[in-house]
Amino acid sequence: MPIHTISTFSRSIVFKVLIVLIVSMTLVVTGSIFIFTSKQTNLMLEWSFNNNESMLTQIGYMASSEMKQFGNRLTLLSKTSEIQSLDPTMAASYLKSYSVSSLFISGETITLYDRENAFVCDNSMVGIPSESPYPIDFSRITPHRPYTTPWFRDAKDAPPKRLFGITITNKSSSSGFLLANFSLRRLWTIFPNYKIGKNGFLVAINGQGEILYHPDLKRWLTDSHKISELGLKDIDPRIYDVKKAQFQQLYDNEKYLVNYYFDSNTDFGIFAFQPKREIDDLIYSATQASIAILIIAILIILIIAAWMFYMLGLPLNRITRHISQITEGNLDIQDIDVGNRKDELGQLGNAFNTMHDTIKRQIRELNAHREILEQEVKERTKDLELANKKLEIISKTDELTGLPNRREMNETIANEMGRSARTKKPFCFVFIDIDHFKNINDTYGHACGDIILKSVAQTIRGLLRKYDVFARYGGEEFLTLLPETDLEGATVVAERFRRQIEKMTVRYADFTIKITITLGVAKFDERLGADRSIQMADKALYQGKEGGRNRVIVWRPEWVTEADYEAAAIELAALKKDAETPKDEKFQVSLDYIEDHPLKLAAEAEREENSEEEQS
Ligand code: GH3
Ligand code: MG
Ligand code: MG
Repeated sequence: MPIHTISTFSRSIVFKVLIVLIVSMTLVVTGSIFIFTSKQTNLMLEWSFNNNESMLTQIGYMASSEMKQFGNRLTLLSKTSEIQSLDPTMAASYLKSYSVSSLFISGETITLYDRENAFVCDNSMVGIPSESPYPIDFSRITPHRPYTTPWFRDAKDAPPKRLFGITITNKSSSSGFLLANFSLRRLWTIFPNYKIGKNGFLVAINGQGEILYHPDLKRWLTDSHKISELGLKDIDPRIYDVKKAQFQQLYDNEKYLVNYYFDSNTDFGIFAFQPKREIDDLIYSATQASIAILIIAILIILIIAAWMFYMLGLPLNRITRHISQITEGNLDIQDIDVGNRKDELGQLGNAFNTMHDTIKRQIRELNAHREILEQEVKERTKDLELANKKLEIISKTDELTGLPNRREMNETIANEMGRSARTKKPFCFVFIDIDHFKNINDTYGHACGDIILKSVAQTIRGLLRKYDVFARYGGEEFLTLLPETDLEGATVVAERFRRQIEKMTVRYADFTIKITITLGVAKFDERLGADRSIQMADKALYQGKEGGRNRVIVWRPEWVTEADYEAAAIELAALKKDAETPKDEKFQVSLDYIEDHPLKLAAEAEREENSEEEQS
């Protein structure tokens, strides 16, 4: 798995679900193992105990019924004519016959006695009367009660036996006795068929605690052994009872689960011993099975998680990456490969691809739109710039004459002042006023006045250098700024203007009109400033008017009085201060000139209030 897939997996919901599942699964299984081992041990024990108990009961019944059948067989035999005849030859041959001997197993002798307790015959093939291995108490053999002896052994290694005795009744009077040995070998062959757990075993005893059967015949049955030798000490087999599961340590130091069955009628008891180890193994293997189940469950969860991750996590992650790419504006990414998937994720992928297409189309349309808009904006901006330029020109130009207006002239003057200060070169003003212009208007009309104004403007403009500035300064007043020109030069230029206008004729309707101009010349004086320098030119012009008009008057620098300079100094200082004062302060200052301004009244009221507070 590539590293990025692993890191994606660790962030995935599937991973979290996986962790939760594994943790909860482990908790549940560990918990159940814990409960199992503590609780199930008892259950397992109980189960084994009950199993063994029912097994023992079965064996007990089997043993009882085997002995009962033995008794029945003996009774049936006693009723046969051959036995009842008590004839030694007949009875002996009958007892040796196949039909009788097949009912008994080897080692089981059947012996016939007469009324006087004398031996008649038996089933032994040799014909020699076999001595009873157990002393028979004939007085106890009655027709009413079957006679049984305790378990005995007629040889060291022979299986235990019991002697069964019945009376032979002929016409209701007892004529003899029939006795037979019941050999426990009958059961020995059957016991191994009963399994007590895997390695458990059965031990049969009689009421005296003598061992009648043990699977290890050689060790336990070649001689007489007691149950106490097995490790079960101080117990009375006739009353001993095991009510619940319990372990008993035996001679081999191993612990065994013990079950016990005793039948007092047959004086026959059976122990079942199942090794504790076996039961522990059962519990251990059950625990192992639980752990195996846990591991298998975790493996299944892992497989499901991996499958979910590949089916859900990875495709979702791919879609998320696509969405991020589109969010970052990368619309040229390829469509999500949905393949043949028709499920929810397939549908999501298809829906996403459709959305992607729609966004791409709309963005194309928007771009096309934007281009059109940008083009339009460009055109509009161009128009606007043109209009602005026109407006700028208009705002700086006098409409009638096409000359710069007074505002433009003021700007030019400011620039020229700066230049002159740097270059230390003088410049001059020539103030021009048309003589008796009112009369022209009055005589020929205002339209004619306009034509004359234009003609004057054109004529004078034609006489100037490129960098001389000529502006319409007022109604029929013009101002010329002659850069890098001293008073003499300016006077020559002014005189040239005067002469040219004097020569000029203006035709209007049928009239030929002639005009004159009066000119005032002054040099820019730094100490006077622009306004006052122009005022000097105006003063010269006024002198020219006074002096008869159509002339050039030059305002000599020596004509400037100290009072002029002082007034100019005050004006310039005021201007400088005004330029330095912030706008709101200018407003405050202006308030002082308005007696009842509401803001001023409010400020006064506040001041009074403050002073009252200070006093109190
Ligand atoms: P003076 O010789 O003393 O200068 O006499 P004047 O008549 O020229 O007197 P003044 O300079 O006071 O007269 C200015 C006249 O110019 C007044 C006004 O009607 C006229 N005027 C100002 N602007 C225009 C204009 O744009 N067109 C026309 N036709 N007349 C104008
Ligand atoms: Mg005038
Ligand atoms: Mg005039």
